[in-house]
Amino acid sequence: MLDEMIEKKPYKVVIVGGGPAGVATALNLLKNGVESIAIIDKHAFPRYKCCAGYITNKTKSEYEKLGLNIEECHYSLIKDFNIFYKQKKSLNIVNKFLYTNEKIDRVELDDAFFRLAKEKGIATYENCAIVAHDMQNNTIATSDGRSFEYEYLVFADGTTGFGSRYQKGKKRNIALQMIFESDKEESIDIHFGITERGYCWVSSYGGITNVGMTDVFIKAKDYKKLFADFLKSQNFDEDTKNVTAAMTPIGVGTPVINSNVFFVGDAVGACDPLTLSGLRYGLTSGEYCAKAIASGKIKIYKRWIRNLKHKFNLMKLMQKAFYLKSTLCMVFKLMCRCFGKFVSKVFNNFFVNKK
Ligand SMILES: Cc1cc2nc3c(=O)[nH]c(=O)nc-3n(C[C@H](O)[C@H](O)[C@H](O)COP(=O)(O)OP(=O)(O)OC[C@H]3O[C@@H](n4cnc5c(N)ncnc54)[C@H](O)[C@@H]3O)c2cc1C
Repeated sequence: MLDEMIEKKPYKVVIVGGGPAGVATALNLLKNGVESIAIIDKHAFPRYKCCAGYITNKTKSEYEKLGLNIEECHYSLIKDFNIFYKQKKSLNIVNKFLYTNEKIDRVELDDAFFRLAKEKGIATYENCAIVAHDMQNNTIATSDGRSFEYEYLVFADGTTGFGSRYQKGKKRNIALQMIFESDKEESIDIHFGITERGYCWVSSYGGITNVGMTDVFIKAKDYKKLFADFLKSQNFDEDTKNVTAAMTPIGVGTPVINSNVFFVGDAVGACDPLTLSGLRYGLTSGEYCAKAIASGKIKIYKRWIRNLKHKFNLMKLMQKAFYLKSTLCMVFKLMCRCFGKFVSKVFNNFFVNKK
């Protein structure tokens, strides 16, 4: 079917998507002795990705294990969290674990990681989107008229990429975000009680503010208006025409189909549905996928995904229970006021440092 294409290049592994999960898969394949690897991405790097861009100590060490110097990507520990419930401040939490880039986005991090793959000799194709897949003949076609033959194909193209057609679960979180200049002083403000089953954030650092909102996606809801109202409530008069939105997965999907087509990162649902932390899980899914491909033992990856599924099923349950009105009232009106130190400890150690 794809034979008329102008180029046919065989690779042992073709990875669709040059985000964190795709690059981590490629670098781990190299580590495990696989050399014939190509990454294709529909964008040219540096590229913008709708993401708050926070990384934890654990995520930082995952990147460093793969040879990326996080300090060079201008990450530092941002000042403390302020927790709000229905616009009223409930608690201040000392931040010990969460780092952010000076621009509060992921452009520099993703670009440095993608360049690292290039420097290590991995073939990269930018502005190159997958447009067709012939599973019988192990071939894909791309938007620039190329055709790639593969032994293994890895979908690392996010929640709504080409690979998502092979996944069943369609329940998702929506996230909206805007980044702009402002003179708000340094802090991370997390707001609960604005969306039904999610939270909003206002992060400010060095003259830049990143405002975001998440919720479990319901088609009928006007999220843009909700977002605009939230911005106004925070005394920002930015035009919301520049707002960006993205989906994050709820639930872990199928890790492998046809014995040689793998899914990593958001493409397999490796993103915490409650907190939206996805970078660390994206990197680790790449590590285990690469081990499975290099050794020819698919079960290595299947087992890792099974464990992740158990963990995220618990987070899904917590998401349901946490956003009940009664739980929110108890946590923010009672626990935060009377047992602030305990809540801080749980927040830092369970929701931040564990991710
Ligand atoms: C608003 C928001 C805030 C978030 N904040 C955080 C945070 O602070 N910390 C955290 O850890 N996680 C956060 N996340 C989650 C995190 O962004 C994801 O889990 C992470 O990006 C997953 O990485 P990935 O490599 O799987 O996918 P992506 O980063 O989405 O990369 C997918 C790549 O595939 C490419 N692609 C897509 N379609 C095609 C195609 N057809 N052909 C070729 N290439 C294609 C894209 O261009 C992209 O480069 C946030 C998510 C959102 C939406």
